[in-house]
Amino acid sequence: MPADLVRISGLGVDYGDRRAVDGVHLRIPPGEVFGLLGPNGAGKTTMFRVMATLLPPTRGEVELCGENIQSKPREVRSTIAYMPDLAPMPSDLRAVEYLRFYAESYGLRGKERDARVTECLESVGLRERSKDICTKLSLGMRQRLALAKAILHRPRLLILDEPASGLDPMARADLKNALRRQADAGATVILSSHIMAEIQDLCTSIGLLQRGRLLDAGPIRKVLAKFGQAETRVIVRSPGRRD
Ligand code: ATP
Repeated sequence: MPADLVRISGLGVDYGDRRAVDGVHLRIPPGEVFGLLGPNGAGKTTMFRVMATLLPPTRGEVELCGENIQSKPREVRSTIAYMPDLAPMPSDLRAVEYLRFYAESYGLRGKERDARVTECLESVGLRERSKDICTKLSLGMRQRLALAKAILHRPRLLILDEPASGLDPMARADLKNALRRQADAGATVILSSHIMAEIQDLCTSIGLLQRGRLLDAGPIRKVLAKFGQAETRVIVRSPGRRD
């Protein structure tokens, strides 16, 4: 059995006296599309920022792809990709130019660069749209373009903050195919949402986060069987929302 790509032990994050993440233990094996589900303010973004090495944990340990995020942050950054929600897009570049720019930042040049860019566009189903101006693409396509950018350096772990936010079911299906392709190629994908339908469409396993605590995690059917669909909806529903 391959080693878990994500190993989180006793993770805690405080902002001053506000406890945002509270004693989270989590293991995720390679090849999963894992959904972190929780209402607004549950601590999802905070967990992701810690995993992306952008925020130091207050307590606990996080190991990604076999490396500790605090003792080996550079190694961790080279094997992961972090996609914040609604990544900004340039209004003066075509999709292909946007990816070439970032491919060069990874040291790719000439034919090698172009081949990798084409491969990434293909992998997210955007090869036909390579000449489109980034900001003219639909929201779903922009999310897939952001994913193409995120996978340029062949990360083993993809961390995506609410990538399906605002997408219609068809755009979600396209995103799912793109993520599935990554997982089938051996990457592990973690994404967050506060809408259960999004997670159900996209993920193979889920974790339920509530007020910084992980209530349960595992294969989606198992977690839903334990908590029940209705209760899970209640757990993830944010005040004032009707999902
Ligand atoms: P959302 O779905 O709204 O993005 P979330 O589950 O990602 O929510 P976080 O953004 O991680 O939740 O926030 C967790 C808690 O930490 C919330 O109570 C939030 O108000 C608080 N928080 C987040 N960032 C900061 C910060 N920079 N300073 C102080 N408190 C913060």
